[in-house]
Amino acid sequence: MKLDTRCLSEGEPLVFRHSLDLSGLLFSGQRVFSVPIDIEGSLEGRANGLILKGTYRTVLSLVCDRCALLFSREHSGCLEAVLQDDPPQQDREDIVLLQNGVCDLDEIFTPAIILSLDTKNLCKPDCRGICVSCGQDLNRQSCICGPRPTDPRLEALRRLLQDGGDA
Ligand SMILES: [Zn+2]
Ligand SMILES: [Zn+2]
Repeated sequence: MKLDTRCLSEGEPLVFRHSLDLSGLLFSGQRVFSVPIDIEGSLEGRANGLILKGTYRTVLSLVCDRCALLFSREHSGCLEAVLQDDPPQQDREDIVLLQNGVCDLDEIFTPAIILSLDTKNLCKPDCRGICVSCGQDLNRQSCICGPRPTDPRLEALRRLLQDGGDA
């Protein structure tokens, strides 16, 4: 969604509401944004430029890093940006440049939302995952392989012994 900031009158914030569709983006093969993202906020003229304040809210479709279960989780956040015409009056990193006074909300919100995603996703904080030996979902049922070694060095040794046994 594009907003023309040239029609903005001073002291009167421009309020916007938008539905951002990022369903085409894949993260590790997963359509995380299967639901459109609700965006709302305002644009207001200030001495140092236009101030954009916005919030976003959606439901993410995620795959658990431990048990590979598909689950959904609410995700929301906010952002603030200073918008200025090209060339900018100040040399600041957080300034978003306007093209002929037009502000593209999708271009501003999309990177902020992607950066706000967690790198680790667990279906629940204490997800027990899948047994590396037999593939049993340990959230549902324990398996006969016994307790899993927690020390990564022991785990490597176990794998080595297992590989040796197969050869
Ligand atoms: Zn899980
Ligand atoms: Zn097992």
